[in-house]
Amino acid sequence: MIPYGKQAISQSDIDAVIEVLNSPWLTQGPKVPEFESSVSRYCHAYYATAVNSATSALHIACLALNVGHNDIVWTSPNSFVASANCALYCGAKIDFVDIDSNTGNMCVHALESKLITARENNALPKVVIPVHFAGQPCDMDALHKLSIEYNFKIIEDASHAIGGQYKSDPIGNCQYSDICIFSFHPVKIVTSAEGGMALTNCKELDEKLKLYRSHGITAAPELLEQDSDGPWYYEQQALGFNYRMTDIHAALGMSQLDQLNQFVNKRNELASYYDALFTKYDEINPLTQSDDVYSAYHLYVVRVANSSPQLHRQIVTKLRAKNIFCHVHYIPIYLQPYYRQQGFEQGHCPNAEAYYHSAVTLPLFPELTQQEQDYIVATLVETLTELRNVEK
Ligand SMILES: *Cc1c(COP(=O)(O)O)cnc(C)c1O
Repeated sequence: MIPYGKQAISQSDIDAVIEVLNSPWLTQGPKVPEFESSVSRYCHAYYATAVNSATSALHIACLALNVGHNDIVWTSPNSFVASANCALYCGAKIDFVDIDSNTGNMCVHALESKLITARENNALPKVVIPVHFAGQPCDMDALHKLSIEYNFKIIEDASHAIGGQYKSDPIGNCQYSDICIFSFHPVKIVTSAEGGMALTNCKELDEKLKLYRSHGITAAPELLEQDSDGPWYYEQQALGFNYRMTDIHAALGMSQLDQLNQFVNKRNELASYYDALFTKYDEINPLTQSDDVYSAYHLYVVRVANSSPQLHRQIVTKLRAKNIFCHVHYIPIYLQPYYRQQGFEQGHCPNAEAYYHSAVTLPLFPELTQQEQDYIVATLVETLTELRNVEK
């Protein structure tokens, strides 16, 4: 079976983990801060907070921006559920902005018209969470301009996008956002097994992120609210969590980071090869890449022209039967039973729904070979032709 995504673990990754196991610290040692400074340096951001998942990073990012009851958060429906759940963890209301079907990213025009209506209704969002879908950066310049005009904060969900660039600058530099988060789950670009990170250029936000990561506790002398009782003294100043990353995970993440550029270049090469193969077929369209972006290519997605829910199901089922484990990203979040219970209904974001029934994620990972890509494309074309003939 050719999986849709797969980590690439080298001997140096394994050695890095073993080194920590033989060291005095399994957690809260030197590796976590080293990993944080490596990522912030790579991304040109001032501060970074490593946590045990991107989901945790999204949660504490919302908390750091004071998201609470009666606040409103907007995100993209074409994402993993965590992009929306983080708002609900804070007791806020969530809503979804429809996508641009050509990129799978939040549509800036849809965002603007939703903001105009929200302003009239006195229901503007406190935070908007754009998702760099498949690794392609959103139109951050436009989002940033809207954030100033409508006074909202931006958390970039860059779970797919470490190693990507927007206007020749690395994703994660927070030039157009307040906080940017990454995921290091094994299917993503680089992995720490489980893990995530939240980057920011704001010292105050960074302090809050670090507070919420570890029970709301600090021992930093400059942050204490009361007089210290002695060298053991620490304070719990907020209700935080245990979202810490371990040194074992950080060591793996650090070692993987050395290969990040290589991975992303390889993913781009493989994506270009797919693109070239698909130019011959009008019915199968890769996502469009915008100007000024370099995608990290977490996912390679094609859209099937004139698709239907039934055709879509058959394509994925038949490809899986032929050992190609393709996938679908994403079921619009608000169509999940839990979100329907919150009152969301079919038709809320028509582009995201139509896109969903046409999108197929094909295998893409650094160790994929061109022979495998040839097989995948030939099988997809053959399967689609067969299914179309049955339709006629
Ligand atoms: C994977 C993913 C997450 C969650 O990442 P974890 O590290 O597994 O918590 C959040 N948002 C998006 C868009 C993702 O793809």
